[in-house]
Amino acid sequence: MPSQPSEHEVRVLSRRFGLPNSASIDTYLANDGYRALEKALKEMTPDSILEELKVSNLRGRGGAGFPTGMKWSFVPRQSPKPKYIVCNADESEPGTCKDRLLMEYDPHQLIEGILIAGIVVGSHQGYIYVRGEYRYLIDILDRALEEAYARGYLGKNILGSGFDFDLYTHTGAGAYECGEESALLESLEGKRGIPRIRPPFPAVAGLYASPTVLNNVETFSSVPPIIVNGGKWYAELGTPRNGGTRLFVLSGHVKRPGVYELPMGTPLRKLIYDVGGGIIGDKKLKAVIPGGSSTPVLTADAIDTPLDFDSVAKAGSMLGSGAVIVMHEDTCIVRAALRIMQFYAHESCGWCIPCREGTNWLKKTLTRFHSGGGREEDIGLIEDLAKNMLGRTFCPLGDAAAMPTIAFVQKFRNEFEMHLAGQPCPFEKHGQLVGA
Ligand code: SF4
Repeated sequence: MPSQPSEHEVRVLSRRFGLPNSASIDTYLANDGYRALEKALKEMTPDSILEELKVSNLRGRGGAGFPTGMKWSFVPRQSPKPKYIVCNADESEPGTCKDRLLMEYDPHQLIEGILIAGIVVGSHQGYIYVRGEYRYLIDILDRALEEAYARGYLGKNILGSGFDFDLYTHTGAGAYECGEESALLESLEGKRGIPRIRPPFPAVAGLYASPTVLNNVETFSSVPPIIVNGGKWYAELGTPRNGGTRLFVLSGHVKRPGVYELPMGTPLRKLIYDVGGGIIGDKKLKAVIPGGSSTPVLTADAIDTPLDFDSVAKAGSMLGSGAVIVMHEDTCIVRAALRIMQFYAHESCGWCIPCREGTNWLKKTLTRFHSGGGREEDIGLIEDLAKNMLGRTFCPLGDAAAMPTIAFVQKFRNEFEMHLAGQPCPFEKHGQLVGA
């Protein structure tokens, strides 16, 4: 089961979590399931669906926050090439585990969202690309696909509409890099998962060089409620330009970690203290990573930041995948920076030098620093190395490694200085190290 519901939640995407057999088509149909598909096929046109999506202010939940309606409108519907719908289920940003729940507890909602994307762009084939470590979800998804085929929601002449659509699952091999959309497409085509040079973007030349809609699980899962209830209803759940709700993954030093669905724009303070029950041991808050490990850390004084794409950007970070990692006063920031860099150095695909070399140099320097061998000039060196990676790599992984490092050094320079002169880590005795 996902985390216990909180009274503060507004459950749109997760409202079927916790129902008996929530993944089955019978539960889905008994709770508004496939109503959006029926409406889209029988009462709407591709243009009117797109219009609802634009009104809804749904922005991609994968990290970048690009408006979904606009993204789908970029697909050249008149192209003679086949069009594809690809669902990025390669959820692997550290701290993030909410797409997993959507697939495990409500796979039909995802299937329905993908089908609606197919109607909009005139596609008849789709793929759900599932991260290798989530292999057990393939059984759940395949069972849901079988049920949908058996009941006429997939396959030929869906609901007698003349619309055909086939959907398949596909697993990756467990590479963070394959969460990057163009690397994912390479991997789905059976090649090594390294990114493509863009433009062209997937909307024009995606899978097999054909027009492709590519979104993540949470984004597709958000579409059916929008079609059933209307774009305006959805938009009003959130803030201007940031419609709806999203699944926030709350982890780190909070009393009640979990996955919670809250309106876009919910203040960080509310998430940590009301929903999450506050800080473990009632300690002081030191820092928060607001959107997964690739997003710059916020200091405790950003506690009133509304959690929407624009407000978090204004505060100097990114909402990213909605994975909020809380660090209390005993956390060693140098250790946190090191732990994150260990991950990126391991996951760098090695294709471009600034990322391949930069992440490893940063890992080595941070390791030396944290173990007491740091020199004063290393502080500037760490920041300089990270800045030289920014914007100089083929894919966003280079930036993902650089941005948090720069923020850690700039916002917590004093903690780096506390590790100088051969001193052991001043926080080690507390044993509360993020990611340890
Ligand atoms: Fe590979 Fe890193 Fe370059 Fe991305 S930035 S292509 S992960 S080496």
